Amino acid sequence: MSRLCVVCGGSRGIGRAVSKLLAERGCRVAVVSRNQDAAQATVVSLAGADHMAFSCDVSKGEEVQNIFETIQKTCGNVSYLVNAAGINRCVLNTCMNQYSYRDGLLLRTRPEDMVALLHTNLLGSMLTCKAALRSMLHTQGGAIVNIGSVVGLKGNAGQCVYSASKAGLEGFTRSLAKEVASRNVRVNLLAPGFIRTDMTVGLREGGGVRTIPLGRFGEPEEVAKAVLFLLESPYITGQVLVVDGGLQLAM
Ligand code: NDP
Repeated sequence: MSRLCVVCGGSRGIGRAVSKLLAERGCRVAVVSRNQDAAQATVVSLAGADHMAFSCDVSKGEEVQNIFETIQKTCGNVSYLVNAAGINRCVLNTCMNQYSYRDGLLLRTRPEDMVALLHTNLLGSMLTCKAALRSMLHTQGGAIVNIGSVVGLKGNAGQCVYSASKAGLEGFTRSLAKEVASRNVRVNLLAPGFIRTDMTVGLREGGGVRTIPLGRFGEPEEVAKAVLFLLESPYITGQVLVVDGGLQLAM
């Protein structure tokens, strides 16, 4: 049977592009997001059959556990996990169909928004990794890609909390890679720069593009190729791969 890949945040943006590429390469894809209809819309757009959509808020431990149990029962063991579920300053909450603002200068950031960012971006990936590992340790193999950010590596004024969530993900990825390497499970972090998705919808009109050496925002499909590379590279673990058009050089 073909490999099963769980893509958290697979309904839109980078996760959707990853889901599409994995399906083209013959994987079965379990698309996870809070909005079931959006996840289902991704599923119907994928090449091949046997893909499934699941609704789950990755920041909620019980939901994550239940969904991964369901995935394992209905689809089998998980070979790949991609953690692309995340929120930033400008968040499209598809359940409520509205944009809201989650970060900004620290002095203006509400504690409840700090919690929401950390719970989704950092705790969420920890919970899904833990749940997927049950499958991977059982089969003695698997690969995980967590999506971080160049902002987590370099910092950015106005994004303290987002940056902390992504920097935390880097430490988590490296530590988990050490914990599970002996069981043939690999864990890597991909750190994108500015990518053209819902998350950057408010940024694209600004002058920020001038700071990117390649002179443009990246496309989700360009990130997906790098995610696939990490998933399929059997001798790479505990690494950070930056996909940012050279932005980090200028930060
Ligand atoms: P999008 O806003 O386009 O997509 C985010 C995805 O995550 C959606 O599928 C969304 O679905 C899902 N999601 C959000 N919150 C939750 C949650 N609590 N539980 C489950 N699913 C959730 O974002 P991008 O594709 O741009 O971002 C993907 C990842 O890449 C994020 O981690 C982001 O921080 C990171 N990144 C993005 C960059 C960019 O420039 N775009 C740059 C650097 C990093 P739903 O709303 O239905 O839950």
